[in-house]
Amino acid sequence: MPPEITDTTGTLLFGQPLPSTGQRPVHEQVAAIAQAAPDQIALHADGTGVTYAGLHDQASRIAARLAAAGAGPGSRVGVLAGPCAGMVPAVLGVLQAGAAYVPVDPAQPAERIARLLGGAGLSAVLTAGPAEAPAGLSVPVLRAEDPFPGRPTSSVQVSPSDAAYLIHTSGSTGEPKAVLVGHGQLTASTQARQLVYPGQAVFLLVSPLAFDSSVAGLWGTLTTGGRLVVASADEVRDPARLADLIAAQQVTRLLCIPSLYSVLLDAAERAGLGVLGSLDTVIVAGEPLPQALADRHFALRPGTVLVNEYGPTEATVWASYQRFEHAAPVTVGAPVPGVNLYVLGEDLQPVPRGTAGELFIGGAGVSCGYAGDPEATSRAFLSDPFAPGPAHRMYRSGDLVRCTPEGTLEFLGRRDQQVKIRGHRIELGAVEAALRTVPGVEDAVVLANPGLTQLTAFVVGRPELTAADVRDAAARMLPEVSVPRQVRILGAFPLTTNGKADRLQLAALAETPAGEPAAGQVTGTDLTAKVTAAWAEVLKTTDIPAEVNFFDLGGHSLTMFQLQDALEKHTGIRPPVVALFQHTTVAAQAAMLSDVTQESDLSRRNRRIAARRARAGQSDQGNPA
Ligand code: AMP
Repeated sequence: MPPEITDTTGTLLFGQPLPSTGQRPVHEQVAAIAQAAPDQIALHADGTGVTYAGLHDQASRIAARLAAAGAGPGSRVGVLAGPCAGMVPAVLGVLQAGAAYVPVDPAQPAERIARLLGGAGLSAVLTAGPAEAPAGLSVPVLRAEDPFPGRPTSSVQVSPSDAAYLIHTSGSTGEPKAVLVGHGQLTASTQARQLVYPGQAVFLLVSPLAFDSSVAGLWGTLTTGGRLVVASADEVRDPARLADLIAAQQVTRLLCIPSLYSVLLDAAERAGLGVLGSLDTVIVAGEPLPQALADRHFALRPGTVLVNEYGPTEATVWASYQRFEHAAPVTVGAPVPGVNLYVLGEDLQPVPRGTAGELFIGGAGVSCGYAGDPEATSRAFLSDPFAPGPAHRMYRSGDLVRCTPEGTLEFLGRRDQQVKIRGHRIELGAVEAALRTVPGVEDAVVLANPGLTQLTAFVVGRPELTAADVRDAAARMLPEVSVPRQVRILGAFPLTTNGKADRLQLAALAETPAGEPAAGQVTGTDLTAKVTAAWAEVLKTTDIPAEVNFFDLGGHSLTMFQLQDALEKHTGIRPPVVALFQHTTVAAQAAMLSDVTQESDLSRRNRRIAARRARAGQSDQGNPA
């Protein structure tokens, strides 16, 4: 459905208005489906299906336990869960209890989990699946899967201004920003989704709960009677398995970051493109969609619609989208229903069409702001002078855009130090602030590489400081994606004429290798050297110690697939990706591959012996087949 644009000369774009009545909060919409179609499958996770009635019942029991533990309207409940069957009733149960859910990713460093759970004003913490809450929390901790002998309660009434969830994003000072989203905004964002993507989807959820694109999958699917297929962490890491899951579950809709879609296409090309045959819509979001990927999509999957969604967490998941039915120039499109987009200059007035400006987002999805931080809220959320009617707010996105003659927005980049690495939003200032707390560090500058795949930290500090110390300390404090891949210790920063660290000079320095490879590291014929060569190719560095973790050197789950290919090229053995995640240093991978080689030598030898015996037996019997 094309967005309605009332301002055709300037750059105020108004999305199609949402019907103003009849929308219930998302958990009530799910409850209505459980009533109308109790036996319909709502969820497929951990290898089993759960019906809408089953999901509703589990969520109601969780809500009753939360109420008994003192959580209810106005309170917040932490949900510590990786992808698993229990995470969906957990968040539904929190909403049914009238509380707001605060998702926390258990894959983060323990220190950060404890800080997030300790600082969000929680009344209780729910865990699901194998996740374990840190010791010493001062609030009740419940497991989503534990039985509840009592009667499930009916859901507590909420109003549009009540909080529905709180998601943490990177904050420039080092403390994460807690974006608070109300039921009214969640309902509107979901309603827009129902309009843009009509029908019941089989939706593949690959985003962690703590990432706001999970909101699109969860509520966009479960409020329409669709089926949510939750990919396990191993499946998300292994595109070949993800493609198999898509085929096995006949997934029709997928939402992921472009870089994941790209490796999924690689895997599908290897397995045969038929594995993606059930997909009717691929949605990419969270970071710029490369034109080459859009073109490749249509070359390989011409019948599948591709949608580029854009939106910050502060505007409730999405603000604009571009729908492609065939290859076309990539933009971030036009407003989603209920949303207004304004391209403004420094004076906060619309710029002429075709001129770059900052994108401000108004309308139904503008969130409540940052919990506990009225100052940051008032800086980013301003009163909206362009919306019809009184008392509206708009969110200052920090994104630079330009409106095309067709009324769609071209994404030009950021006006600040925020970067996106593998879809994760990172304030470079936050990483710098964290590094400055490391004992011995005096100052730090962090830069992203031009391809936006990794960070490099330049650190000035005490002479005894080592790069490994800084990296280890960073790994304890920061999510894996924010830990700088390279740490360079400098005597002093190069300075600009006004005395600031010269980021341009540092960026040039980041592109030069830190050191020559140790003798015998990259060359040589033994397995360690071959594995090191494969790592060097994938990580694009020659500085690879045998005992340092792949992830500490800037590797990530997507590069693990490239490593699988590179290892095959260098060693002749293609190890399963899961084994690579279990063996994450050069030394461990070389040992593992050596075992594989010995095993296959052994099995080859055993096969030879068995064949020889069989031949001997056959000639003994004189009865060749
Ligand atoms: P997050 O709050 O994590 O969803 O990050 C929001 C930011 O990601 C936006 O402000 C943009 O800078 C960037 N972003 C999200 N989607 C897109 C997209 N489709 N194209 C370009 N940048 C995007």
